[in-house]
Amino acid sequence: MPELRVAVGQFATECNDFGGLPTDVDTYARHELFYGTDVLQQTTGAVGGALDAIRASGAEVIPLMSAASCAGGPLTADCYAHIRDEMLSRLEDAGRVDGVLLALHGAATAEGVGDPEDDLLRAVRERVGPRTPVVATLDLHAHVTAGMVRHADALVGFETYPHRDARPTGERAARLLLSAASGAIRPTMAMVKTPIITSAIHASTDGDDPFARVMRFAKAMETRPAVLSTSLFLVHPALDQPGMGSGGLVITDGGIESASSLAGEITARYWSLRGELEPTLHTPEQAVKDGLAIDGGPVILVEAADCCGGGAAGDSVASLRALLDADPECPALVPVVDPDVAGACHRAGVGGSVTAALGHKLDPQWGTPISVTGRVERLTDGRFEYAGERAGMAGDMGPSAVLRIGAIDVLVATHPTYDWLDEQFLSVGLNPSEAKFIVAKNPMNYRQAYGAVAQHAFILDTPGPTPPTFREWPYTRQSRPWYPRDEDMAYRVTVIR
Ligand SMILES: [Zn+2]
Repeated sequence: MPELRVAVGQFATECNDFGGLPTDVDTYARHELFYGTDVLQQTTGAVGGALDAIRASGAEVIPLMSAASCAGGPLTADCYAHIRDEMLSRLEDAGRVDGVLLALHGAATAEGVGDPEDDLLRAVRERVGPRTPVVATLDLHAHVTAGMVRHADALVGFETYPHRDARPTGERAARLLLSAASGAIRPTMAMVKTPIITSAIHASTDGDDPFARVMRFAKAMETRPAVLSTSLFLVHPALDQPGMGSGGLVITDGGIESASSLAGEITARYWSLRGELEPTLHTPEQAVKDGLAIDGGPVILVEAADCCGGGAAGDSVASLRALLDADPECPALVPVVDPDVAGACHRAGVGGSVTAALGHKLDPQWGTPISVTGRVERLTDGRFEYAGERAGMAGDMGPSAVLRIGAIDVLVATHPTYDWLDEQFLSVGLNPSEAKFIVAKNPMNYRQAYGAVAQHAFILDTPGPTPPTFREWPYTRQSRPWYPRDEDMAYRVTVIR
């Protein structure tokens, strides 16, 4: 039998239908954007893992293109057309392939397309025909649609949140693809969705979080005969797409009925824990007041609503305003994306004074700027390296500055970036462990960044496109009932297979 030829591509972005900045080709160029043989140099993420597994098997890799970025608003029509064309034209040019592996996020949206992953998988399926296996990796915050399940042979979700396992997920997916391509297995897949739409605040896969318990339940099924893969999805709640929901997806070897029934068990377990997914919230004013009463620090102000990793612009000053009103001489670290003010700081130079309207300019619907005067403490080009499980990945805030207002250090960046640990603060010389307050603009990763040193964390109720609860969220395409909007609704599922 001739050597297997496996095509590999990546299109990985989480989009926010309610805010943030449009995602265009420049956005990808600042993160990961590779074409053809340059894809082969990738060592991190799902692509890095998939490449390793395919090479180890002796199969040939056909590199397509690879585009990954921090979350943002929907892709522009041009940007998605570019990614789609580059991916498909290379697949066309490759001639015979024995399998296709795509590293996807699963919660992208694109202007005029709606669900681009569904569109891309359908287009790939049309080109390779019904018998060539198509396997995709997904973030566990994917919006898994009926089209994605039907066009792909296997969808393999991340197992961890915080997301530490993109690479092993790529390896697992590639091994599954290779087995299917060689005829050793015949994957059959079912997802059972229930309309639970919550933020990710209580959705860690570590410890005793409700999501962690259901994930362990799902993963234990993988030891059963003929179960190839189980996944659990919490739909990215800042989408406005029809049919949003969460639940289990199971792939079995040739047994669609058992795949459906096991996925149903996972989803029923998820439903039974839904009441634990909603967080307790604090106003910024109350959180700062309560935080000041706590001995020592740091106290974490979790401004989840302005999460760049969920597609927000990162330009809110809701927490900063509360800190300035309560006690500007209390040491605090606050990130704010504001290219104008970053530029003003660079023009003023280190030691210079800057008076400016700060915040709420990139996505102004969520608040108004505040007038501040501060001293420029530090200037950088905004480039940094991620640490821990994301080591080897680079971040780019664009020209950045530390603007000190009283004792509050504001990290003013030009571009939004994904929060993993405290890399952005460290890169500009700020030491979070010395602050009384740290503003963390993410719903989860603050736990791994500051869990070891934090005295307390308050989940804030502030305006923004990635709020900590979606109970009252103005979806236009999601049909009722859904939880928690319709708190007393009866259990209902959609089975996709
Ligand atoms: Zn995610």
